[in-house]
Amino acid sequence: MVATCRCALRLLLVSWAILCASSLPVLADCGRTSVRIVGTLEEQVSACQALDEVLGYFRANDSTSAPELTVNFQPAVFVRAGGSAISTNALLPVCGSYRATTHEIQILGSAAGHTTRRPWGLDWGAAMAFSVLEHEIIHAVIAQIMGDQYEKLPHAWHEALAYAVQIDLMPNQLREDVLARYPAEEGFSNTLQINELVYGLDPDRFSVAAYRTYTRGDKAEFLRTAMGFEFEMLDMSLLP
Ligand SMILES: [Zn+2]
Repeated sequence: MVATCRCALRLLLVSWAILCASSLPVLADCGRTSVRIVGTLEEQVSACQALDEVLGYFRANDSTSAPELTVNFQPAVFVRAGGSAISTNALLPVCGSYRATTHEIQILGSAAGHTTRRPWGLDWGAAMAFSVLEHEIIHAVIAQIMGDQYEKLPHAWHEALAYAVQIDLMPNQLREDVLARYPAEEGFSNTLQINELVYGLDPDRFSVAAYRTYTRGDKAEFLRTAMGFEFEMLDMSLLP
C-alpha cells in the first residue's frame, strides 16, 4: 500500500515535471556560466547553436570567449523610437534587439508567427529567425571584444558590422535571396557613407552594401580596423 502510494506520488511528480517542461520557459546556459537563455527547449537549442556559430566565426581570427549574455525569447519585441518620450505610441516593433548596458537580447520566439517587420521583404521563417538571432549575438560578441570602447563606435557602424557578418554566416540560399533584392549594389565607395542617415533611409539596402564592402577585401582586417576606429567615421549623433 505504501509502495503503491509512493509509486503514484512519483508518477504524479514525473507527470508534473513533463507538463512543466513542455509549457514553462527553460533557463539554460549553453554549457557556459556567462550565458542564460530564457525560452522553450527548442529556442534554447537554437540559441546555443547560433552562439556557437558566431563564436566560431570570430574565433577563426581571434581568441574570443563567450560574452556575458541573456537571451529572452518574447512573443513581441519593441524598441523605443529615438528621442521620444515614454509613450507606448513611440515603441517600434522589431524582430530583435541587443542592449549592451544589460547584456541582453530580446528576440521574437518561434511561436511569434508573422511579424510586421519583414527583413529584406522576405518571409519570416525558421532560417530568417535564426539569422536575426545571430545578428543580435554578433552585437554581443563585438561588445565583448570592444569592452568600454563599444559605446564609442557610431550606431551605423555597429549595424554595418553586425549585418556584414550576419549575411556572411547565412546559409547559401538565404544569402542569395537577400542579395537578389539589390543585385546592382556593389558596396560603399567611401566609409563615410556608413552613417546614420544612409542607414535610416533603407536599412535593408544598407546591410547589403555593408556586406559587399566587407567581403571585397580582407574580412578580418576590416573588422579589426573598424573596431580600432581606424576608418574615417561620421557620427551623425554628434553633429549640431
Ligand atoms: Zn543590429
